[in-house]
Amino acid sequence: MKFEQLSGREFPRFSAIKTFFRLPLADFKANFDVGLVGVPYDGAVSYRPGARFAPSAVREASSLGRGFHLTRAEHIFKKLKVADLGDCPIVPIDQSQTYQSIENFFAKFGQKKFVAVGGDHSITLPLLRAAKKLAGEPLNLIHFDAHLDTYPAAWGCEFHHGAFLRHAIQEKLIDPKRSIQIGIRGPLAGADDLDLVDKAGLRRFTVDDVRVNGLEGFLKTLPKMDKGPTYITFDVDCLDPAYAPGTGTPVVGGLTTYETQRILRAFNIKSLIGADVVEVCPAYDHADITSLAAVDTLFEILCLF
Ligand code: MN
Ligand code: MN
Repeated sequence: MKFEQLSGREFPRFSAIKTFFRLPLADFKANFDVGLVGVPYDGAVSYRPGARFAPSAVREASSLGRGFHLTRAEHIFKKLKVADLGDCPIVPIDQSQTYQSIENFFAKFGQKKFVAVGGDHSITLPLLRAAKKLAGEPLNLIHFDAHLDTYPAAWGCEFHHGAFLRHAIQEKLIDPKRSIQIGIRGPLAGADDLDLVDKAGLRRFTVDDVRVNGLEGFLKTLPKMDKGPTYITFDVDCLDPAYAPGTGTPVVGGLTTYETQRILRAFNIKSLIGADVVEVCPAYDHADITSLAAVDTLFEILCLF
């Protein structure tokens, strides 16, 4: 199997059946390095629903995704064998069956790597459970988000889309002292919202931290991820609604796509084992702004492998 993008000359970019980046659709037996997978589950959203439609919207928008990275001066799809592994089976009206299915599906990656396209942010918990099992030790987490995602149960439900990180800390899926959050901003419900993150010892970078003293200076403060396995979770609401209007819980005063590109490029990760891009909600999107941001984020993440 050749892991090449479909030619835009043979099939113009608006034509042909849509896969991520026009890459081949493969199964686990194929000899790929990184598999892109849709996880179309949004049963844990507290506000705007619709992230279940993100994998198809992002596949569609990724038709424009070319492979040569200008800054890195390399063709990522020639260096890395990347394939579309299709969608992970989910049950739209049952979260526990969905969580089990996600864990089972991603456990099949073995030593191969994956990037999941959500779905709401609740899917990151079973993804981290699978990734930790594959890695055999707690993960370094790089968490892009406007929100802390350590919130308590809502309406008596533990596993909503704003609680994945609290469970990941409690289940020891991640090593909080080697984990960071980027893009965090208020308003919060109260000062004690920060308690869990602070007590666990995660480093938190707010939008002020990224911007007030200039981006170049900020990039130098990013910790090295040179020990242990690392996982990246990218909630598109880390971006300002001007750059990502199509999302479940938008918060103004966010990052720009240029800033998240530069931040992702600044990482030097020794062992990236998996990643996800979540919370794209196509029904609230305009002119594919959010889907295109997700596509570019996937591309930057693929370059980190
Ligand atoms: Mn989130
Ligand atoms: Mn969020």
